[in-house]
Amino acid sequence: MDVVARTSAEVPKSAVSAPEPTPWKLLLWTAVAGLIFGLIGFGEIAEDWLRITRNGFHKHSASGDIVIVAIDDKSLHEVGNWPWPRRIDAALLDRISAAEPKQVLFDINFSFRSNPVDDARFAAALQRAGNVSLFTRSTSGSTGKLVRRESGPIPAFRAHSKLGLASYRYNYQNAIWRIPYGTNFDGEKIRSFAAALADIDGPADVTFPIDYSTDVESIPTYSAVEVLNGRIADSKLKGKNVIIGTAADVLNDNFFIPGHGLAYGVQVHALGGETLRRGIPTDVPWWMPALLAFGAAAFAMSRHQPQWKYACLSAAIAVLLVVPLFFEARLIFVDVTPSLFILAITLGALGWRQAKQRGLVNAVSKLPNLNALQAHRPGRNKAIVAARLLNYEEALSTLPPGNERQLVDQIVSRLAVGTSSRTIYQGDGGIFVWFAEPGDPFGNHLEALHALFRNPARVGKLSVDLAVTFGVEVGSGRSISSRLASALVAADEAARDGLKWRHHDPESLQNASWRLSMLSQLDQAIDKGEVWVAYQPKLELATKRIVGAEALARWTHPEKGPIAASEFVAAAEQHNRIGKLTDFVLEQAVKNAAQINRRDGEFEMAVNMSASVMSDKGFVLRLSALLARHGLAPKYLILELTETAALASSGEGLDMIGRLRDLGVGISIDDYGTGLSTLDYLKRVPANEIKIDQSFVKGIVDSRSDRLMVQSTIELAHSLGRRVVAEGAEQREIVDLLTEMNCDIAQGYAIGRPMSLESLARRLATDRKRSAA
Ligand code: C2E
Ligand code: MG
Ligand code: MG
Repeated sequence: MDVVARTSAEVPKSAVSAPEPTPWKLLLWTAVAGLIFGLIGFGEIAEDWLRITRNGFHKHSASGDIVIVAIDDKSLHEVGNWPWPRRIDAALLDRISAAEPKQVLFDINFSFRSNPVDDARFAAALQRAGNVSLFTRSTSGSTGKLVRRESGPIPAFRAHSKLGLASYRYNYQNAIWRIPYGTNFDGEKIRSFAAALADIDGPADVTFPIDYSTDVESIPTYSAVEVLNGRIADSKLKGKNVIIGTAADVLNDNFFIPGHGLAYGVQVHALGGETLRRGIPTDVPWWMPALLAFGAAAFAMSRHQPQWKYACLSAAIAVLLVVPLFFEARLIFVDVTPSLFILAITLGALGWRQAKQRGLVNAVSKLPNLNALQAHRPGRNKAIVAARLLNYEEALSTLPPGNERQLVDQIVSRLAVGTSSRTIYQGDGGIFVWFAEPGDPFGNHLEALHALFRNPARVGKLSVDLAVTFGVEVGSGRSISSRLASALVAADEAARDGLKWRHHDPESLQNASWRLSMLSQLDQAIDKGEVWVAYQPKLELATKRIVGAEALARWTHPEKGPIAASEFVAAAEQHNRIGKLTDFVLEQAVKNAAQINRRDGEFEMAVNMSASVMSDKGFVLRLSALLARHGLAPKYLILELTETAALASSGEGLDMIGRLRDLGVGISIDDYGTGLSTLDYLKRVPANEIKIDQSFVKGIVDSRSDRLMVQSTIELAHSLGRRVVAEGAEQREIVDLLTEMNCDIAQGYAIGRPMSLESLARRLATDRKRSAA
């Protein structure tokens, strides 16, 4: 049963920081903002930029089925200024037709007449060629619908050709993202150049996105003059879809191809044709990914840990950046900026809230800090408990840098024992504070916590000794900050007086002087008879008989009244003044045990030993003399040692225990469960009894984990041949449960409070009568 490992490994989450509620208001505003963003197309620039970037990842070559014949600078240079005489157009068409292309498209305006001879020649060439489409254009109305045919070829040409729609929509950057499939003019269906090049019939007046991941440079392009002069082999044009257009800067048919730069209208048509040859593009409406993004944002914000929130949001953003890439490679186009916008503002709001909270959080441990404590209004009616780690800075300085968090985790896990749902606030320099119910009995809890700190914390391979004291302010109607100060002062006073904890006491001035003198008074008090020994009975559960008692020191001060054993024992231990008290209690206990044994037979007496006794070389001799003097068989004396790391690790301590066992006295490990309690420890310390600490026993009725701890300790101890005593049996149910669990002996208020020798004698007598009856 490794209790330390259990408590330090699982820092209760709630003790670290209270989970935040899901911020529905923030999510609502995010949704509204995302909606507006999407509806007004606010992200167009970013959307275009993202698409261009993605295109870079799946660039591919053109099919080669579409061929451009370009009226380029070279052609203008060799043939002459634009427009050319129509007989040259006719010659060019004848040349191309001779190569037997699939079709020919002229992205050239033939809407005006030139001289009749040339016009006739071109009309004749059109007639000879057959499958030729000529340029027409339309303007779009305010709705974006194509409404009016603007220009078309003159009737002489029109008679021998089809019409090809050369319209497109370009934005403020002169970039064309979409072109139509075609349109209807006066009941006649006209395909766009792109649709004609791909030989598909799309819906009228509907546009599609151009796939700009096709490399425009890979479209076979020949200079018009080269074709005219027969320098291009027929095989290059045979069976191809040939589009002829101007491609010279001086002719002003310039557009911006996203991701490429300046290009010409004819190239845009060719790319449109390439797009449709690959398939029919699908447009996914922007609100679909936006809905998913909103879902992701809501999911992220419902996580409790900030790092999970960030991880969810970042993952969603990454998906939005990457997934469209795979979609677009399959001609599925989706606008993601509204979705990204939703996630970005959620992320921003999260960061902003965290920055705001950072002022209320310890930078290292992420525990709420003392500012947060003071801002916690419900705390006004609560008691404040402050723990001060006396050697925190010192402990930190022995650790490698960056290990503070681990140390704090260990401290918090100990402080949270028994109150795991509590928020613990961390101040600077080893101060930890929490709120408690003012009516709580603090003493036992704080003492149990104090016991937990007897063992060093383990950070990595290092073990760090920690010393702690507690101060309590039960509530005095003052501000939280001044009450906090009082609790801290009380903790400091406890440290100074060698106590485990202290209440803030308004009369502390008088008290402080008393505490200072307490230690010096203790020795005299023993001599004056103010110190006496109380005996708390121990019940054997199998036989329901009182088989022994624990001797507990009591000090009744003539003016102050009873002083708690924990208070003066701890003070005496810390100032090395425990020797006289130990001798006194031992003497009394052994004398009285011998007496009871003579009268009633078989009675064990347990006496608490301070760790310092373990290094007292003469102790074994003195003890055996004491036992002999009072005639008590050593087996009736049990020495209770609190388990400490020092005991197990120092050969000296083990040696001493060995010699005490040789003498014949029993050894009990007191407060078991609050210390180092490893299996190894149990096996090494040759104790014959284990006393499970009351902090576990008290909880067995209500707490499953305490019950498990006690049950498994009993089994473990039995398997090692040790006897088990459970202390803190406060109620009958606990005694019954312990009996069921096969525990050997129980001690606690339900069996009997610590009592005077006379009371113990009476109790034994009635017990005897009852069992005789
Ligand atoms: P301990 O050895 O664990 O003693 C048990 C403590 O629990 C006693 O407190 C006892 O009164 C209390 N107790 C017993 N049954 C119950 C119960 O059912 N519920 C609750 N809540 N408490 C119960 P006490 O007498 O105040 O002693 C406190 C500690 O002071 C002892 O803890 C022991 O460590 C130390 N101590 C007492 N007398 C001596 C002594 O003579 N020498 C040394 N070195 N230490 C002593
Ligand atoms: Mg004890
Ligand atoms: Mg104990």
